[in-house]
Amino acid sequence: MSTATSDWQSQVDDDGILWLILDKRDTETNVLSIAVLEQLDSLIDGVAENLPRAVVFRSGKSRGFIAGADVSEFLEVSSTQEALIMIKRGQTLFSRIAALPCPTIALIEGFCMGGGTELALACDYRVALDDSTTKIGLPEVRLGIHPAYGGVVRATAIVNPLKSLELMLSGRALSARAARAIGLVDAAQPRRQIERAVRSIALSKPPKQRMPLLGRFLSLPGIRNLLAEFMKKQVAKKAPRQHYPAPYAILDLWANYRGNPRRMMEEEANSVARLIQGDKVRNLIRVFFLQTRLKSLGDKKSFSPRHIHVIGAGTMGGDIAAWCALRGFQVTLQDREPKYLSNAFKRAHALYAKRVKSPSERNAALDRLVPDINGDGVPRADVIIEAIFEDIDAKQAIYRDVEARMKSDAVLATNTSSIPLETLATALEQPQRLVGIHFFNPVAMMPLVEIVRSELSSEETIQQAIAFTRHIGKLPLPVRSSPGFLVNRILMPYLVEAFTLYDEGVAAEAIDKAATDFGMPMGPVQLADTVGLDICLSVAQNLSQAYGIAVPAGLNKFVKSKHLGKKSGRGFYRYKNGKPVMDKDIDIGDQKMIQNRLIFRFLNEAAACLQEEIVADRDLLDAGIIFGTGFAPFRGGPMNYSLNEGVDSVIAAMMEYEECFGERFRPARGWARLGEHGS
Ligand code: NAD
Repeated sequence: MSTATSDWQSQVDDDGILWLILDKRDTETNVLSIAVLEQLDSLIDGVAENLPRAVVFRSGKSRGFIAGADVSEFLEVSSTQEALIMIKRGQTLFSRIAALPCPTIALIEGFCMGGGTELALACDYRVALDDSTTKIGLPEVRLGIHPAYGGVVRATAIVNPLKSLELMLSGRALSARAARAIGLVDAAQPRRQIERAVRSIALSKPPKQRMPLLGRFLSLPGIRNLLAEFMKKQVAKKAPRQHYPAPYAILDLWANYRGNPRRMMEEEANSVARLIQGDKVRNLIRVFFLQTRLKSLGDKKSFSPRHIHVIGAGTMGGDIAAWCALRGFQVTLQDREPKYLSNAFKRAHALYAKRVKSPSERNAALDRLVPDINGDGVPRADVIIEAIFEDIDAKQAIYRDVEARMKSDAVLATNTSSIPLETLATALEQPQRLVGIHFFNPVAMMPLVEIVRSELSSEETIQQAIAFTRHIGKLPLPVRSSPGFLVNRILMPYLVEAFTLYDEGVAAEAIDKAATDFGMPMGPVQLADTVGLDICLSVAQNLSQAYGIAVPAGLNKFVKSKHLGKKSGRGFYRYKNGKPVMDKDIDIGDQKMIQNRLIFRFLNEAAACLQEEIVADRDLLDAGIIFGTGFAPFRGGPMNYSLNEGVDSVIAAMMEYEECFGERFRPARGWARLGEHGS
């Protein structure tokens, strides 16, 4: 027998098992919108009246179980009271499912996130598909909240708190096997067996998952408090409470109420209803949508490269090649002599050791990465990425050689940071084929890639470059070819202001504190040390010509005396075991002034880029800056932050700084344009 609401189908099979299949209308992905939950609520009414032998929840989509709640609905919540009503409705529904007297099972295939995992936790059993697409997580902290439909209560009731809390605090997702290992799911099964496994559980009702002994011990009142305090200290190293309250709320909830599940459930709702108020969650949801937008640019299916050829096995080329091989591509890596390749292969080994658990998959990735001194990969490659040192003649010599030998439909890309593409393309017979695919360092860590369009690039090439970037799991940001493109251009005045402050006698620690207090993941001085002061100087000199930015003398002195930052053990800071030695007692000076000087330079350059249409619109600008520099995500990007603060008041404050500190603070023309875009 089979019936259907608009988003759910229900089928009773010959064994009397009811299959509730979610296939949300008009979308590729299942999310738990209010409407989906309301329909489920009615279905559960029917289940309670006419109890089946068991209930199985599964997805009707070809990929993924449930991606979580419909976060766009959070944006409509305007008061704590409204949030509480919404949360309690979900909690009540999931508690009804948990209380059903027949066995309930979640069959998880593909991703299962947030509310999806909470639904699975409300079931008696969880069976996950054991393949690489299955990812199970509770990533709500990334939106500035935590699970609210009983997820914190239920996860910490069955899974060792060290593991369940870590899952929620990090927002990371687990594979089916990893979820099985910590007891988050009962079984991880291959596709051919999964339905049989679910049926067998439904009919035999094995004992339910219980908290292991160690977990019960760690949940004892005194121990629990100690552990929560310890974990808070760990969290504080990465996410300061003033900016990211959600992880602390999870730990408080667990420490204070674990002994009383009913109360804990209430407090779980109260806590999220509190967190959801204010700009932070709204801004983080914005970041989530910006990421979704970048992920959906172009048409991934329109171009399916298989072979990537990288020329130049240095810092960037070596890591780009390793990354592409990790993502499943056949890669040939070319350099002048074998000795230049060995470092790149060492780094690839280290990357795979860190990222790939299975030895056979690790070896497969290494097998895909092939040294190629003679450039034999060129005629076979679908994408050719040039990443040799920054020299026009050397790059052009490569293009001449490559153009004659490459496939007629292959993409030719350069990773140049500063040479205009229009200049480089003059060496080509078909200059429209050159595109910039500008990666950031370190390649494996940085999610963004700028897709640089020169005046000559063809639309087809740009679209291919975007599709390729999506295939390798990076976020493409189309930018106009202009010195520094978007990210380096905006970062540089901010870094230069930090160097200027340093030259004026402000301590590096004071400068970095002002930036991290604003929400930057790392202060500008430490960032410069990490990138390398020689690289900073060369980018600054390049941009100073284009934009008239004065490069402070101090930076030059560091480079001359070979104090290049972290890599040489000394830069603005001294380094001990790779960590900067910071003086905690140093005079931190006028923090507000320092912070304003840094941030105003950042915002002003962003406004200038908007005016010059370096990117198509202000959302793409914010996205590029957040994913390219780590700009305080909870502020939603520089333009969003300025709009929240009020453009007029930002401009007025900048004009005061212009009077005190000089012309570089004169508001750029782009501010008027931001006003036009509105909020
Ligand atoms: P690098 O000096 O570390 O590596 C350059 C490599 O190219 C060297 O291994 C060198 O042997 C090789 N090479 C030089 N001429 C060659 C030739 N004719 N054929 C084959 N190989 C040749 O340089 P890098 O830092 O990796 O920078 C490479 C490119 O990436 C530059 O255009 C740079 O502007 C850009 N970039 C660098 C960074 C960064 O942080 N280092 C970031 C983004 C982009």
